[in-house]
Amino acid sequence: DVESLPGVPDWMPGHLHSAGVKELYPPQANAVEAGVTEGENVVASVPTASGKTLIAELAMISSVARGGKALYIVPLRALASEKHREFEQYEEYGVSIGVSTGNYESSGEWLAKCDIIVATSEKVDSLVRNDAPWIDDLSCVVSDEVHLVDDSNRGPTLEVTLAKLRRHNPNVQIVALSATVGNADEVAEWLDAALIDSDWRPIDLRTGVHYGQALHFDDGEQTELSVKRGEKPTAAIVRETLDDDGSTLVFVNSRRNAEGAAKRLASVTNDALTGAEEEGLEAVAEEIRNVSDTETSSDLAHVVERGAAFHHAGLARDNRTLIEDAFRDRLVKVVVATPTLAAGVNTPSRRVVVRDWRRYDGSVGGMAPLSVLEVHQMFGRAGRPGLDPYGEALLLANSHDELDELFEEYVWAEPEAVRSKLAAEPALRTHILATVASGVADSREELLTFLDRTLYATQTNERGRLERVTDDVIAYLVTNEFLEQTGEQLIATSLGHTVSRLYLDPMSAAEIVDGLRGASEPTAFGLYHLVCRTPDMYELYLRSGDREEYTMTAYERETEFLGAMPSEFEEGRFEEWLSALKTARLLEDWASEEDEDRITDRYGVGPGDIRGKVDTAEWLLGATERLAGELDIEVAPAVHEARKRVQHGVSDELIDLADVRGVGRKRARRLYDAGIETRADLREAEKSVVLGALRGRTKTAETILKHVGHTDPSMDGVRADEQARPEPE
Ligand code: ADP
Repeated sequence: DVESLPGVPDWMPGHLHSAGVKELYPPQANAVEAGVTEGENVVASVPTASGKTLIAELAMISSVARGGKALYIVPLRALASEKHREFEQYEEYGVSIGVSTGNYESSGEWLAKCDIIVATSEKVDSLVRNDAPWIDDLSCVVSDEVHLVDDSNRGPTLEVTLAKLRRHNPNVQIVALSATVGNADEVAEWLDAALIDSDWRPIDLRTGVHYGQALHFDDGEQTELSVKRGEKPTAAIVRETLDDDGSTLVFVNSRRNAEGAAKRLASVTNDALTGAEEEGLEAVAEEIRNVSDTETSSDLAHVVERGAAFHHAGLARDNRTLIEDAFRDRLVKVVVATPTLAAGVNTPSRRVVVRDWRRYDGSVGGMAPLSVLEVHQMFGRAGRPGLDPYGEALLLANSHDELDELFEEYVWAEPEAVRSKLAAEPALRTHILATVASGVADSREELLTFLDRTLYATQTNERGRLERVTDDVIAYLVTNEFLEQTGEQLIATSLGHTVSRLYLDPMSAAEIVDGLRGASEPTAFGLYHLVCRTPDMYELYLRSGDREEYTMTAYERETEFLGAMPSEFEEGRFEEWLSALKTARLLEDWASEEDEDRITDRYGVGPGDIRGKVDTAEWLLGATERLAGELDIEVAPAVHEARKRVQHGVSDELIDLADVRGVGRKRARRLYDAGIETRADLREAEKSVVLGALRGRTKTAETILKHVGHTDPSMDGVRADEQARPEPE
């Protein structure tokens, strides 16, 4: 009963009523019984879409009502904005919400004023490293999707961050939300928390496997599915669901497959659209085209017009949001997604089809099956509460044997246990440096005591392993002059402090320092290659034919590299050098004003990937600039220029102009070609020339002139100079 919740502010029951929450779902009620509104630690391991967020909200709101401050840790940046939107409902009661993402290396002082802060685990880690003063004021910490501690890339950061927060504030309340996993009890033990472990769902979920002309369900029922001649099973399922006025979410294993399948399924959805839906979709397609003028965008708009969509990390962020919204509004009838969408974006649908249950895995060099946990999370997206009578989730089998196998491996299988991935060198490298630099530990012994608070320590009886890796990592950090060891004592050097605050992997820092030490007059390309070699940059893969092409480029441009090129006979290292080279050339193309579309073609990437690489490069070059300063190496101006070029995607002559807010790479070029070459020129420029270069866009011209500090930015009565007007758009 929402009327009698202990610890919540008076307005809460009324608010819940108006938000459509008449009574708590059973796992929520269990959490309240366990004291989640009274400051008790709780781990809630419940299925997707079963109301975990409200458990967190109850904890945070009651904590804030007691004068505290809450932190909500999300695994993905995309989720930070989604959660922010959800929590905004509390602003009318005076609860202030802040989101902190992006730019590391700041202490986010403005956040001190917020009651609830949403941030990724990396961001929280970096805020702790930068001594954000409000960290000590936290009274409640929520960790969303805590089962991701199992992820070897990002899990250790979450694990160490939770350990640090608990060390800073021994009384802080921890609320951890998890998908259903095999060992939620261990997670609860680690966090000293009460455990809510439940399979309850607000809407029934039937799971099963399609084979031949039938859908086989876990309750033993079989229903007929008529697959037409030449039709693929997924298309038949989508068609049948549409006949019943339902939507389908299809999971595949690659971007290319997502795009291909969406194109094929669009012919199915197209037949079912009403006139009004066609109009609505037309408008969404138009917005998509406005977001970016690339081929991916136009392909997406094209399928959206026909009621289908694809969704993957290569899309521009705004386009992803447009798709999610249109799917929720029931305009888009089918979304074909890579697993990124399963990771928590709230997009329920009547049916879910997990078409590909194998995915390419770099660590095994081939296809590997998805985990039960992942497949169950995808399944969990089926069924829209209040709209569907039940949800259905299906795998697809090609043979009778496979039908049995999929039932065994996924439908009836229990999800895996989560295992800590902390005792690995790359993870400990960064966290040991940060732990020493921030003063949490100042000896080997203290480090080991601190690490004892992690999930790893709860799960292992093999303390020896963690000690061994810790010793290796300390030795590495000492050799690279990030730490100094005298007797038992460990202290971070000034360089070590900088590296920790910059949020760099120490190995990246070592690579950069090494490259800088040999540099005299680095080129932008040389610097791009340097930062692309670091473990902080996701490099582009080499495709067939790339090896030859980039080997040639490597020899042609050998003098530009900072650091010695490995020999062709050192297989692994040489390959990596070439991958970094390919990535560096993408950045160089971008910084030479190459069209976005040409770049996506040339490198086989999406516009979202260009953005991702550019952002990472900008951050790493900023860090390089700082390291050069720290080491008194006189290359900082060259690094600065390379960073500015990549930031705006322009050649050096345009940097000054592109730095003006609202200008950007294309407009900077047009202004320059019209004779306005610098910020100062722009301030003094003939207005008609500016307007001409901006293709008669009065609003844009006024905004830009205002930003540059023009005495009279108004364009009233100014006409574009015909002479200066370039080709029509
Ligand atoms: P999870 O975080 O577990 O994936 P959500 O918190 O997103 O799931 O909840 C799914 C949906 O259920 C949301 O739309 C939410 O508003 C709704 N919901 C949660 N709790 C209740 C409740 N007690 N009564 C009615 N609706 C609820």
